[in-house]
Amino acid sequence: MAKTIAICGHVMPDGDSLGSELAMGIALRKMGKEVLLFSPDPVPESYSFLPAVSEVKHQHEDNNKKFDIFISVDCSVPDRLGSFTELMQQSEQVVIIDHHAGSTVFGDLYLNDPEAAAAGEIIFDILKVLPVDIDSYIAQCLYVAIVTDTGSFRYDNTGPETHLKVAELLRVGIPAARINKQLFEEKPLVSLKILEEALGTLMLSECGRIAWMCVSRETLKKLDALDEHVDGIINYPRMIKGVELALFYREVDHDTFKISFRSKYNLDVNKLAALFGGGGHSRAAGCIIEGDFESVHKKVLKAAMQSLEDAKK
Ligand code: 5GP
Ligand code: MN
Repeated sequence: MAKTIAICGHVMPDGDSLGSELAMGIALRKMGKEVLLFSPDPVPESYSFLPAVSEVKHQHEDNNKKFDIFISVDCSVPDRLGSFTELMQQSEQVVIIDHHAGSTVFGDLYLNDPEAAAAGEIIFDILKVLPVDIDSYIAQCLYVAIVTDTGSFRYDNTGPETHLKVAELLRVGIPAARINKQLFEEKPLVSLKILEEALGTLMLSECGRIAWMCVSRETLKKLDALDEHVDGIINYPRMIKGVELALFYREVDHDTFKISFRSKYNLDVNKLAALFGGGGHSRAAGCIIEGDFESVHKKVLKAAMQSLEDAKK
């Protein structure tokens, strides 16, 4: 019988990764397990209201500790666990809970449902068969997982099951309106300052179907901004009428760019990001490319144009 369990989400954690991890962690603790919660990167301030989130560690003091079970949530490839891949490798059993299409199969028990809108939907299903009640804390975590990965139920991944599960979470009694305000209607001033700078870089392809923006390290440094303050900015170029594909370049290091891809109707950006060693979902994906901005963008734009052409066929 497993006693010690480690749970870890992906680098640059988002609402799904954190909400899923916390829901699972709280539930397993209620079942008497010793659970440690990890994240390869610090938790963004906007998620600091989540139950038990203060216990998420982004460094592990005891590197020799062997867990009975290591659970990876929302990670399509082992690398997305960042520095925690080692801890995973030395654990007795590894459980993967994921919802990315075309992911790497790893671990001992691999649970991947690309039909699920969020890893949180799969955790919901798992908790339904475990001897544990979904209480208000767990429900809040699952709600955050689902509401963030579905873009507040606006994206294609939102199905009838998603709404049914969320209805059940609401019935448990959670402050949904307050959660939504905290997540989507409150930003630190610095996030708006970044948006101002980023909008200054907005460009549109001649065909009007691709829009892009970028933010340099210099800008982030000047504004004393953290990576998390850039979250959500990609939605602006995508908003433009006629744009099918939005690109957002964030300089993570000198001549190293994290690129976010978002499509609107039919372009599979998971495939596009995979051309550059990244991945994600059909409408939201990402990758990291090294090189100066001009050459990186030239490469990405060429591949993007080609994939738009291919999607027409
Ligand atoms: P975002 O652009 O918000 O960072 O990521 C959007 C989606 O793409 C998420 O589902 C995330 O898991 C995935 N993603 C982002 N960056 C990478 C990456 O470098 N590699 C892989 N495999 N997936 C990524
Ligand atoms: Mn997810």
